[in-house]
Amino acid sequence: MSTSRTLEVDGLEVELVRGGVRRVSLRVRPDGSVRLSAPSRVPADELARFVRAHRAWVDGCLERNGLRDRAERERWQDGGALDLLGERVTLRVEPAAGRHTQVERVAGELVVRPHAPRPDDLGKPGLADWRPAGEELRQLLLPWLKGELKEAALPLLERRQAEMGVRCSLLRVRWMSSRWGSCNVRTAAITLNTELALRPLACLDAVVAHELCHLLEPSHGARFYALMDRWCPGWPEARAVLRESPPMR
Ligand SMILES: [Zn+2]
Repeated sequence: MSTSRTLEVDGLEVELVRGGVRRVSLRVRPDGSVRLSAPSRVPADELARFVRAHRAWVDGCLERNGLRDRAERERWQDGGALDLLGERVTLRVEPAAGRHTQVERVAGELVVRPHAPRPDDLGKPGLADWRPAGEELRQLLLPWLKGELKEAALPLLERRQAEMGVRCSLLRVRWMSSRWGSCNVRTAAITLNTELALRPLACLDAVVAHELCHLLEPSHGARFYALMDRWCPGWPEARAVLRESPPMR
């Protein structure tokens, strides 16, 4: 059993999770939240000391996250560059047109024609030359990215299923904030994070292999990694790339 509450140490908010671990550890998540795991019996002042002793490290992580997020947001605009499954494309945002957003990949460009302003928006100033950027543009592109990811994942899934002799019942793609994939071992449904469309293809393949391995071994124990070594020997490199660039918040 573990319990969770929020702790404040010198102005830093820390989520304290007690129980289920043998030693105190601190983690900075990609979304900027800080989590302290501790055995049930460690006194509060000792925990505060632990956080203070690691404060410089926490601040460094938070700063790197912030810089990465800013760089990531700057890509989402006309002229920005995206890496689609390892291939670089330049974003071209054209004037708003039809009822639906259109996305077309032409040579090295990804041309986006946003949907025309909706009736509710009419009358708002500046809509004639609406050029979505940043989060607004990212949201417009998500359905297309999902489709691209699914298209790329299906042949990988087919090949791996045939090799490994397992069968996934359903492949879903959706945005997840802290995981690249998940596998429901009971229903054999696999879910992939949409953002894998913006990572190299080898990363997608390794996540597909990872989730399929769960159909053979639900836990992350030694047997699981022996299966990964057998079916996807390149998994440590793929994991390193994904750890370096966690999903956007
Ligand atoms: Zn797993």
